[in-house]
Amino acid sequence: MSVQAKMAGTAGEPGPIGPQQTYFRYLQEGQWRIPRCCGCGQAVFYPRIACPTCAGQEFEWVAPCGLGTIYATTVMRRPAQAGGDLNLCLVDLDEGVRMMSRIEGVDPAVPRIGHRVHGEVRRAGEQSLVVFELLEGAQ
Ligand SMILES: [Zn+2]
Repeated sequence: MSVQAKMAGTAGEPGPIGPQQTYFRYLQEGQWRIPRCCGCGQAVFYPRIACPTCAGQEFEWVAPCGLGTIYATTVMRRPAQAGGDLNLCLVDLDEGVRMMSRIEGVDPAVPRIGHRVHGEVRRAGEQSLVVFELLEGAQ
């Protein structure tokens, strides 16, 4: 039983929705889920139709443990009236997938490659997204 099919059914849509829509639908509900291949057990991100490891097309949607390591980090400069500087980063989740996000809770220039981080779903206006914070003692 695939989550995709179930969700498409409740929405009354003609066909199964794509994996990206499923991802964002979970986020809108405040849940952070990533697809894991039923064939080889590998987590897959960004969500896609077929597993890049084994080409399997069956996925279960699992909640990541939330822990990861910064792979790359940069500061996006913004004027103060637009909200000020913002951190942009790539995080390697412990599940073995890489995602783009940002680090909040510290000066955007503080995070460094290799820092351990923890992510959770945050609301930003109409949108929900996964943002990270540095783990205690990471600095
Ligand atoms: Zn696979």
